[in-house]
Amino acid sequence: MIIEKTCIVCPIGCHLKIEKKQNSESGYEITGNNCPRGEKYALKEMINPERIVTSTIKIKDLKNLMLPVKTTDGIPKDKVLDFMKEVSNYEAIRPIKRGDIIIENIYGTGVNLVAAKTIN
Ligand code: SF4
Repeated sequence: MIIEKTCIVCPIGCHLKIEKKQNSESGYEITGNNCPRGEKYALKEMINPERIVTSTIKIKDLKNLMLPVKTTDGIPKDKVLDFMKEVSNYEAIRPIKRGDIIIENIYGTGVNLVAAKTIN
């Protein structure tokens, strides 16, 4: 069975075809990628898919403004919904600097949720 995916590593968006191949080193044959990053992305999608999470959280004492936040790297795709729910309960306290850690070491991945904006 061939699985088709669009590579999202760069704006070119190569159309990848991924096929299970027992005799290949990785266990998959990947075609359609214009560079090695596409192969790496495809393998990650098959073996351990991750997603970068972006969201907003409340700011204590500021009713009309939300703080944009994002993860510093991908977290396991199957944990994204639970994590989004958890994030919605957080409230940032000013002053907030871009890059400040809001949640550290998400699910033991070493990935942090950080502020994407400075708010004084
Ligand atoms: S395979 Fe390479 S060139 Fe193609 S979209 Fe992915 S990163 Fe970009």
